[in-house]
Formats: sequence, C-alpha cells, structure tokens
Amino acid sequence: MQTQLFINGEFAPSSGGGIIPVLNPFDNSEICQISEAVAEDVDRAVEAAKAAFPAWSRMDPSARGWLLLKLADAIEENAEELITLEATDTGHPVRDARKLDVPRTAACFRYFGGMADKFEGFLPPVYPGFINYVQREPVGVVGQIVPWNFPLMFTSWKMAPALAAGNCIVIKPAELTPLTTLRIAELMQEVGVPAGVVNVVPGYGHTAGARLAEHPDIAKIAFTGSTATGRRIVEASAGNLKKVQLELGGKGPNIVFEDANIRAAIGGSAWAIFHNQGQACIAGSRLVIHEDRVDEFLDGFVKLAESIRLGNPLDPETEMGPLTSKQHQERVLHFCGVAKDEGGEVLTGGKAPDRDELAKGCFVEPTVVAAKPTDTVSQEEVFGPFVTVTTFKDDDEALAIANGVKYGLGSGLWTQNLSRAHKMARDIHAGMVWINSYKVVHPGSPFGGVGESGYGREMGFEVMREYTQPKSVWVNVDAQVPPHYER
Ligand code: NAD
Repeated sequence: MQTQLFINGEFAPSSGGGIIPVLNPFDNSEICQISEAVAEDVDRAVEAAKAAFPAWSRMDPSARGWLLLKLADAIEENAEELITLEATDTGHPVRDARKLDVPRTAACFRYFGGMADKFEGFLPPVYPGFINYVQREPVGVVGQIVPWNFPLMFTSWKMAPALAAGNCIVIKPAELTPLTTLRIAELMQEVGVPAGVVNVVPGYGHTAGARLAEHPDIAKIAFTGSTATGRRIVEASAGNLKKVQLELGGKGPNIVFEDANIRAAIGGSAWAIFHNQGQACIAGSRLVIHEDRVDEFLDGFVKLAESIRLGNPLDPETEMGPLTSKQHQERVLHFCGVAKDEGGEVLTGGKAPDRDELAKGCFVEPTVVAAKPTDTVSQEEVFGPFVTVTTFKDDDEALAIANGVKYGLGSGLWTQNLSRAHKMARDIHAGMVWINSYKVVHPGSPFGGVGESGYGREMGFEVMREYTQPKSVWVNVDAQVPPHYER
C-alpha cells in the first residue's frame, strides 16, 4: 500500500516529515500512516507538473487518450484491491464499491480516454479573406482538491478530463481517505503516464490545500467539498486570478406527487438518501410529499429504512456501513439533537445503533424526521443517513419548498404526469433533476450545481470546456492589407 507523496513520478516522504494516521471507520483502528504533504511539497509538485506540461500538452491526443484507456483496464484488473481499500478507508460497503465506485471510476477514465482526440475546436465564418480558427488549449497546471465521501470516484472525475485535455495535475485527496488516490497514481505509473503529469499531495486542507488554492503557478483549481471551504478557495485564488470550479454542498429536494408510483418512489427515495450513508452532495435529503399520500409513503419508507442491514463494510451482505469518521458521526448525531430541539418528530433512527458489534464504529441509524421546511435540519446540509419529511398541498407549494434553500444541486420528483414533470424540471433551482429516479450519473452528462452549490460542471463536453481555454487565431488568407487600414 502506497503511503507517501507521489511527485515527479516517484513515491517519497514529505519534506516536513509529518504523518497522518488513516483510520478504518468500522472500528476506528489504524490502517496505516501516510506522509503529510505540506506547502513545500506542494511547491515541488507544481514544479514537476510545470516541467511535464510542454511535452504532455503537445503529445498526440490519441496517445494521451490511450494511456487513460490503459488505466481504465488496470483499474478493472485491480478491482478487488481497490474495492477493499475503499471499503476499509471510507466505510463504503463492498457491494457498493463493487457495483458502483470501481466500475464508475473505470468508466470515467475510459470515457475521457475516448474524448482526448475528439474534443474539437471550431471555425467561425468571419470576413472574406480571413480564416479564423479557434483551438482549445489546456489551461496548464491544475490543482484538484477532493473530499472524503467518494475518494476513488472523484479522483477519476477530476483527473480524467483534465488529463485528456492536456493539463498536468497536482491533486490533494482528503486527509481522511487518501489510499485509493495514491493507488491510482501508482497504476498511472505502471501504464506509462510520464513523470510529473500527475502528482498526489495528501495533506491537510489548511496547509497543503490552502497552498494549492493560492499557488501563483496553478492556472485552475477544481474543488469538491463543503460550501464553507469553497468560499476560502475563491478568496485564495484571487492572487493570480486562477480559474475556479466548485462542486459544493447540497440539500436535494425529492418531491412525491399524489399521482406517483408509490412503490417506486419509496425504493428510489431510500436510495437517494441512504446510499453511502447519506454522505453524498446530491443526496435526496428533503422528502416533500403530497399530503394525500404521506401516510402510505411513510409506512413503506420507514419500514424500508428500518430493514437496512448495517454492518462491516467488508461483509458482502452489508447494505450500510459506518460514516467515514468519528467527527462526522458526532456531527450527524448533533443534527439529530437539533431536530428534536426544533420540535421535529423522529419517525425512526436519530441515534447510533446499540448493537455491540457496531459500538466501536462511526454508525448512525437511518433517520427519518418530520420537520418544517424552515427548520435548521431542513436548511443545512447534514450529510448523513438523515432525511427530513414535509408535506404539501399543491404544485406551487411543492416548488416553493424545493427552492427554499441556498443550495441547488440534485433534485428529484415522482409523478406520472408528463406535463407536470417537465414544468417542475424547468422551475426547480438545481443543476440536476431526476424524474422518477434519483442519483443517476454518467460521464457524458454534466454534473454540478447552482447557487451555493457552486459553479462549473464535471463530466461530458462541459468539463472539457472547463479544463481548456479557447485561442482564436486570425489568418489573412489573401495576405492583403486588413480592410480598416485601406485609404
Ligand atoms: P471539506 O470542504 O471539509 O473538505 C474537502 C477538501 O478540501 C478536503 O480535501 C480538505 O482537506 C480540503 N480543504 C479543507 N480546507 C481547505 C482550505 N482552507 N483550502 C484548501 N483545501 C481545503 O469537505 P468535506 O467535509 O471533506 O466533504 C463534504 C462536503 O463535500 C459536503 O458539503 C458535500 O456536499 C461536498 N460535496 C460536494 C460534491 C459536489 O459535486 N457538489 C460532491 C461531494 C461532496
């Protein structure tokens, strides 16, 4: 298992010599200690990326893409190891890591490997006698900061398009969950990605992360994490006016209309909030249910929540693992207390499970709370297996509740009425809307938010625009004097 920094194609200890313990959230035992990257290490990594940039950015794009395709194959060949690492480091149940995290990571590298030689410039029709061509150039060295909730998958979402577009990378995984990002770096080395193109600096946010955000030689910072940290990144980026892309928090509304297929809505809504212990920015964390169907819905939904199998993430039967850290478990339990203080009714959960075999881990029971839309727990991101329930009478009220938060990331609605579905999709303030589904993602479809959920998009052609800049080249074909100089 790699535990050191990856700079200029080599694993090496940090210059400061510090270490960060990495814990298994199932029992809080120590998995390993990793070298702690500090500001000087970030500077070395940026130097390495700068040196690698000319050759990498001018490499035949097909050859760049081919390396990403080989990496996708290597990820599949090493799937079992990545599944175990991710499950041990984050608490993701292996059944999810096997079905989602690892295949989606490979799919992302494959998609952008294919994209590398297909992302085209264009030729606007301009004045007679001139050709104007616009080519998309990579921005240079990009800094990437990822959170702990989907470390493997988000590493691919960040790295794959940036590399396909010809950029070099300095990436900082979250201090809690660095292991799969380091393994990906190792696989990159094995498939032949040149030294310096990808550098990994596992360190704390206020040191390594802050240095990345302010670094004068970093042309762009791509950040996924909390809205509070996103603000700090924007402030730190002002020094050299670097490009910023922000994927921040969310408080996804999930609306169940009176004509919904209730069985499908119950299953889909449980997936929307309980997958990955609710630690998902796009989680459907606010259930907004028509008053005529609320009893029927909750009857099935609460039963389903109570039947979810909590356990060791390495057990293939486990459906819900621990939260990723003790500190985060305490934060979610704090919100359970806030819900009660605000007069919310806890319909199920609201506490850590009292089973002995789970006592050492960071578990929280699937929690359903009836709350008012204005309550703190309906407004603030809890980021756990915690969903609020509120009711509505008509579509206008549902929309007002859905749009009544500062965030705008994921959202869902359950209805059989086509016209209503499209009207709501048009009017919901969100970057993504799922109709009769929730949390479907694909490397080809833009992913990101509005409002305090951030700006910029991951995935598809949109993210290729984010990682490139247009250069407009004017050619005077007839070599005549340009018209405005004619006398
Ligand atoms: P966080 O903001 O605390 O940390 C995210 C990353 O930022 C970590 O790598 C951390 O070390 C780093 N960081 C912290 N302080 C920093 C600083 N001052 N300068 C630079 N980097 C710094 O978030 P978290 O708690 O790790 O992750 C959970 C949050 O991420 C939630 O709010 C969630 O909604 C959000 N998230 C958003 C998306 C999305 O795509 N919109 C996806 C997943 C998670």
